[in-house]
Amino acid sequence: MTYQDSRRKILLEQLGVGPVWTLRQSPTMPVAPGPIEEDIAAHDAAGAAIDAVLPRVTADDGHSSVSMSVPVPAGLDWPALEQAVAACTACGLCHGRTNTVFGVGDRKARWFFVGEGPGRQEDLQGDPFVGPAGRLLDNMIRALGLQRGENTYIANVVKCRPLAADGGDRPPAAAEVATCLPFLQRQIELVQPDVIVALGKSAAVSLLGLQADTPVASLRGRMHTYRGLPLVVTYHPAYLLRQPADKAKAWRDLCLAMTAHAAAA
Ligand code: SF4
Repeated sequence: MTYQDSRRKILLEQLGVGPVWTLRQSPTMPVAPGPIEEDIAAHDAAGAAIDAVLPRVTADDGHSSVSMSVPVPAGLDWPALEQAVAACTACGLCHGRTNTVFGVGDRKARWFFVGEGPGRQEDLQGDPFVGPAGRLLDNMIRALGLQRGENTYIANVVKCRPLAADGGDRPPAAAEVATCLPFLQRQIELVQPDVIVALGKSAAVSLLGLQADTPVASLRGRMHTYRGLPLVVTYHPAYLLRQPADKAKAWRDLCLAMTAHAAAA
């Protein structure tokens, strides 16, 4: 067993995953294209549906005062995009935020991880995935042989904290997601990763343009495509902290993502 294999085994044990799965083919070796399910048509249809909705998104969910999606001009570069997010008041989430949470990492990364939205700690610090869920995500990333900030980019579907009436966190509402999504879309466009890992339902259904109640379990275990890029769906780290028995499934999803990354390399 190589040093890297030993280290991965230790990390997987820390994740509570065992036995250790290994790919039948090394992720560094060329991999014959598998039966990748092309969701382009579905995505395009959903994207068109979203585009049709965007100009008239309203506070029909009771959480938002949105009237339109964020305007993200084609060709917007990183500094301008970051500035646009920092100044954005396009949906009601701006009222509850301390900081916008733009995203973090290598802007030329081959791996792009997408979460749901900032929680309390993320809102205070301005970074995605801090706290216990962030530490678990870091372990998942290390198990892939990667590091946060090196060859990885992490962003959320919405850039401001969805604040519940009781002061806690809540999932973003559909209108809030639809309003903020162009920022994430532009981030992905700029990074052009080899593979996208959607962490949890909000990330998966937003990028794939699916119904909000689509279960994550029905999306796992197969390759999707977002605008020509491979996309793998797995559980959100916060869910895995509550349901540690599903960490093994999450590792299988990451192995699938490694296959996609190897095929794209
Ligand atoms: S969540 Fe997104 S769209 Fe809403 S105010 Fe924040 S940056 Fe703007």
